[in-house]
Amino acid sequence: MPAKVSLHPNPAALLSEVDERLAVAMPDPQCELDHDDAWQLLIVTILSAQARDAVINEIRPVLFERWPTPADLAEASQEDVEVVVKRSGYYRNKAKAIRQCAAAIVERHDGEVPQTHDELVALPGASHKTANLVLGVAFGIASGIVVDTHVNRVSARLGLVPAGKKPPVVEKALCKISSEDDWINLSHRLILHGRHLCKSKAPDCRRCPVNELCPSATEAAVDEWKARAEREGVIVDARGDASGAPELASAPADAASEEPPAASAGEDDF
Ligand code: SF4
Repeated sequence: MPAKVSLHPNPAALLSEVDERLAVAMPDPQCELDHDDAWQLLIVTILSAQARDAVINEIRPVLFERWPTPADLAEASQEDVEVVVKRSGYYRNKAKAIRQCAAAIVERHDGEVPQTHDELVALPGASHKTANLVLGVAFGIASGIVVDTHVNRVSARLGLVPAGKKPPVVEKALCKISSEDDWINLSHRLILHGRHLCKSKAPDCRRCPVNELCPSATEAAVDEWKARAEREGVIVDARGDASGAPELASAPADAASEEPPAASAGEDDF
């Protein structure tokens, strides 16, 4: 993996082609935090900070069976909630945050999760990223791009954004080079691509559908990109389990047929 990747000369064209390929893998990408509604999504998203989604998905049924509504959770004791959310890490702070969040929803919003970014980030425990996620997934409102650790890493590896930038800078850059209509699905595709294929320590570059577009690729790709994309789709659908994914050809793909998007000047100044 190159230590530092230069910004692509035409990141908008690159992102468009990356999204086109990832859309073959993930035509309808889904949030991997299980939830029944906006209320549950908000609470599990707060709990998911610094925790694996699989752990939060195990906590969720217990939490909401005991306290199904904001009013129920607002009245729960700190100690009882701590016991239930303990495995999520930082459990004292998280238990306090979700109880206070529930109370604020009851007091300010009649028990309903608000549908504006300003109202969401004013809730205890809800960050800018949380607000983007809840608005996009629960209400279909595109308020920005969700930049988590995966989106940050994938974007820098691809040369879509300058390396080493903080999430707000990455989000601004990605929003500038993409259509608002695409923000919700694009967020999820980049998250899932980073989580299941372009992993932090061992990216599966040989089987990556955007290999030919990526300056960080460590190996040549095998097979055609559509076959790689379809394989990634199987893995994403199985939430990272590659056991059911088809094997690909061992020979490198014909790089000559997979040119990256044409560069153009003047679009690298965000
Ligand atoms: S080629 Fe490798 S580094 Fe580049 S996006 Fe794919 S998995 Fe990540």
